[in-house]
Amino acid sequence: MKPFHRQSGSLMSDQVRCSDLAEEFGTPLYVYNRRAIEQAWQEFATALQDSSHLICYAVKANSNLAILDTLARLGSGFDIVSLGELKRVLAAGGKPEKIVFSGVGKNTREMAAALEAGIRCFNVESVSELERLAEVASAHGVTAPVSLRINPDVDAQTHPYISTGLKENKFGINMGDALQAYRRAQELSSIDVQGIDCHIGSQLTTLEPYADAVALLVGMIDTLSAEGIHLSHIDVGGGQGIRYSADDESLDVQAWARCVQSAIGERDLQILVEPGRYIVGQAGILMTRVEYLKSNEDRHFAVVDAAMNDLIRPALYSAWQEIEEVETLEREARVYDVVGPICESADFLGKQRTLSIAENDLLCVRSSGAYAFVMSSNYNTRPRAAEVMVEGEKFFLVRSREETEALFAQEFLLP
Ligand SMILES: *Cc1c(COP(=O)(O)O)cnc(C)c1O
Repeated sequence: MKPFHRQSGSLMSDQVRCSDLAEEFGTPLYVYNRRAIEQAWQEFATALQDSSHLICYAVKANSNLAILDTLARLGSGFDIVSLGELKRVLAAGGKPEKIVFSGVGKNTREMAAALEAGIRCFNVESVSELERLAEVASAHGVTAPVSLRINPDVDAQTHPYISTGLKENKFGINMGDALQAYRRAQELSSIDVQGIDCHIGSQLTTLEPYADAVALLVGMIDTLSAEGIHLSHIDVGGGQGIRYSADDESLDVQAWARCVQSAIGERDLQILVEPGRYIVGQAGILMTRVEYLKSNEDRHFAVVDAAMNDLIRPALYSAWQEIEEVETLEREARVYDVVGPICESADFLGKQRTLSIAENDLLCVRSSGAYAFVMSSNYNTRPRAAEVMVEGEKFFLVRSREETEALFAQEFLLP
């Protein structure tokens, strides 16, 4: 069953009527479905069941503690990019030995904290970072488990802002410099060379970029092996795409797994994967209430109470997300631009959408589980939305709506 479906005209999540949640918790409101998160994670577990593997959920896609808790209970690992995310994962019951630490700018404090926690691996993105990590580990009297992130220079054919595997991107170590970097890592006594990784972009819906990238990584593994540098894992990153509109295809996880497995062949390597969007994207919606309907000549606007501070994807990536009525009611259908109250022309959730609505009706923005709440801000001194998790006939508040006064409680008047 889909995480959100219709029952006699009402949008439901499992057995819960979404409009009841809006009544109880107010809007804007994020609603997540626990079963959908678990099912998406299980798709990876099933697809990789014949290989030694570790699924490391990319925390930055949605870092709410309840989501991390849900995944930790399945035995998931985590891919983090900051000390804050490390603390969240540990607070949610995640196991340090299943955490990989990605990111192009890890600082000394973050390295020290991750070493202290005893994480599984640092995904190192430059030789400078490697040298720094070696110093920090040495100062703490430990060795740092390391994978080097390779930039395979493949075109992920996705939006330029979410493409990361091209030479022009800031991420990883160029293929041509990789061998030297591994030799250097091998020399450093406080570095334990364990793996190789890449992450070529986000919202990928075809297999070719993965096939190309994994083939390059496997070639490097063989080269290293011939030099006596033996790796025990290959981390193929995340990026598995989901279906935002009826024209999209989501990535076929089974086919993706077969493609990765066949490139690896008989080599004795554990497969790590870092999916973010695929795990949570379809498991969430953003609910919002229509404040005003207005028309400028022949353009109609639905001014809603959610804005770009709540969901920035349409403004930032020109992302298209489905918008629909929460309750099917007798209304005149019109084509609307769905816009927020913020003083920016980029403040829209969707343009030219046919909707049957009146003022005070509820709308929902689909596929809002990933890169949605986590990218929200307090722009215009707007409190961030509340978040709710649905499970069967039950639902739980998993983040309360921010209080306006708290937004400036850490600021000071001048003496
Ligand atoms: C963002 C990111 C991911 C997750 O990407 P998705 O597109 O959400 O699957 C995985 N690995 C790294 C290194 C990332 O930066």
